[in-house]
Amino acid sequence: MRQKIVAGNWKMHKNAEETEDLLNDLIDKLPNDKDVEIIVAPTFINLSSAVGHLEFTNIQVAAQNMYQAESGAYTGEISADMLKSIGVNTVILGHSERRAIFHETDALIANKVDTALKHEMRVIFCFGEELKDRQNQQHFNVVENQLRDGLFHIEKSAWSNIVLAYEPVWAIGTGETASPEQAQEMHEFIRETVRKAFGSDIAEDVSILYGGSVKPDNAQEIFSKPDVDGGLIGGAALKADDFAAIVNAI
Ligand code: 13P
Repeated sequence: MRQKIVAGNWKMHKNAEETEDLLNDLIDKLPNDKDVEIIVAPTFINLSSAVGHLEFTNIQVAAQNMYQAESGAYTGEISADMLKSIGVNTVILGHSERRAIFHETDALIANKVDTALKHEMRVIFCFGEELKDRQNQQHFNVVENQLRDGLFHIEKSAWSNIVLAYEPVWAIGTGETASPEQAQEMHEFIRETVRKAFGSDIAEDVSILYGGSVKPDNAQEIFSKPDVDGGLIGGAALKADDFAAIVNAI
């Protein structure tokens, strides 16, 4: 049975005090009796306090990014070892904002994946097509290429540390969600693509999250689809009531 996961990507929101307030609110409101893994990803500078704050809870902490080198003259960057040293064992890689705004290529993301796996970190690997790709009927090709170029070089044994997050770019922060049918169609394709490359056991076990304007009022229908194993939530993860409602929808 694959793991259900709901993760909140806080992006560049919440200062130190606001982070603490939201975490307290989440501790109060999130369920702890559901068979779902809950993850939050605050900004780098608040990760350490979040780990401390959530120590005795069922909520895990992830980083939103990391750098691929071990250490060195890379002003402003954060390494896998630094994350591990404060108790962060999960990292989001390949987010569309990293790809679009910070020019991260598939090759660079592949590099980051390798470094994270070498440090036995779990990777939430993000990918998804742009609107023009869907309009040109290229969405399956684009998704397959992102998987092949950014991820499929890994060893079979590394898949236990991989979570996939399909996030169609046109649905991120736009209020426009993929329909549950569109999400299911793509998730099924993704699982089939993994199956062809790595076999049925890995394809069946990997959790595939959907991200892009998931809200309390659409979460249940999206999560009800057989190949959707949870969500990667942006805007709605910044309000404890909304995030709790989404977790409860699984
Ligand atoms: P929204 O939920 O705000 O659309 O963001 C999704 C996302 O990018 C999560 O990583």
